Amino acid sequence: MTQAKILDGKWLAELVLTDIASKVEKLTSSGKRPPGLAVILVGDNPASKTYVAGKHKSAKRCGFKTFDITLAVTASAEQVKQAILSCNENLEVDGILLQLPLPKQLQANPLLDLINPSKDADGLHPLNQGLLLRGEGKIRPCTPVGCMLLIDLAYSGVNVGQVATLSDIKPIDLSGKKAIVIGRSILVGKPAATLLLERNATVTVAHSKTADIASGCREADVVVAAVGIPEFVKGSWIKEGAVVIDVGINRLETGKLAGDIQFQEASARASAITPVPGGVGPMTVAMLMRNTLQAYHG
Ligand code: NAP
Repeated sequence: MTQAKILDGKWLAELVLTDIASKVEKLTSSGKRPPGLAVILVGDNPASKTYVAGKHKSAKRCGFKTFDITLAVTASAEQVKQAILSCNENLEVDGILLQLPLPKQLQANPLLDLINPSKDADGLHPLNQGLLLRGEGKIRPCTPVGCMLLIDLAYSGVNVGQVATLSDIKPIDLSGKKAIVIGRSILVGKPAATLLLERNATVTVAHSKTADIASGCREADVVVAAVGIPEFVKGSWIKEGAVVIDVGINRLETGKLAGDIQFQEASARASAITPVPGGVGPMTVAMLMRNTLQAYHG
């Protein structure tokens, strides 16, 4: 039985935010304006409000200027469009985030497509997704990039909690390793698979029509689960020594949060594993800040 390294996303996100804050401090102390992040929230979904508050706090921590645009739950597509276009035109706004999900009268994709791709802090614009497939582009989807940094931490000699900087964690080459991504959404699964391929992993993508996901998992050196079903991946499916990344955030009837992976059982077999909460979630927010700084530099 192995003792898994717990991939503490809060700790790693703090390294990222510290790195960004020091870069922004250099910019502003030389007289340049700070990067600006605009967050558009439509409606009053409590979970969305909590996520937006977290993003706001991280943006402030980085020294960014923030622009909060809150629209009523009854907002029309035209009103959201105008909010996006005004952010596109605002020279102080470098990154734009349209918080999802949107109220049911609104379709997300046509609105996301209106965001200027060079200000697309979430990395979900079709142009940025296409560039990712080509192995190009600097603005990439936040959650999958956060997963990759957690995988880098897993393979690094860096221990969580030790004095470290972001530069101590190097991109890992996954040549010869097998990875499985469970889930094929545009938000997580597909870009995560692309990023793993880019690092030379041999990647399987599993989804709701896949037969025998357990067998695929048992062969995988890296497991990324983005399914949205609590404890979908059983501990017994995990290969000894695998690196296990749990993207899932599922609210149980008890009010507690659960991931997509049986944490206790999987951590008895994995070499490294993310907790839920406190794993991928904080990294997603940190990568949003990194994309905003990237957009600032153009
Ligand atoms: P999604 O769009 O609903 O996609 C879920 C994927 O899981 C789909 O590809 C689906 O397959 C697959 N799936 C569903 N049931 C399955 C089954 N029984 N067997 C195998 N595959 C199955 O969800 P998402 O946006 O990718 O998010 C996934 C999870 O990650 C959710 O819990 C979400 O809350 C969480 N999340 C967390 C963060 C974070 O920052 N931590 C960010 C984003 C999302 P089909 O394509 O065949 O339907």
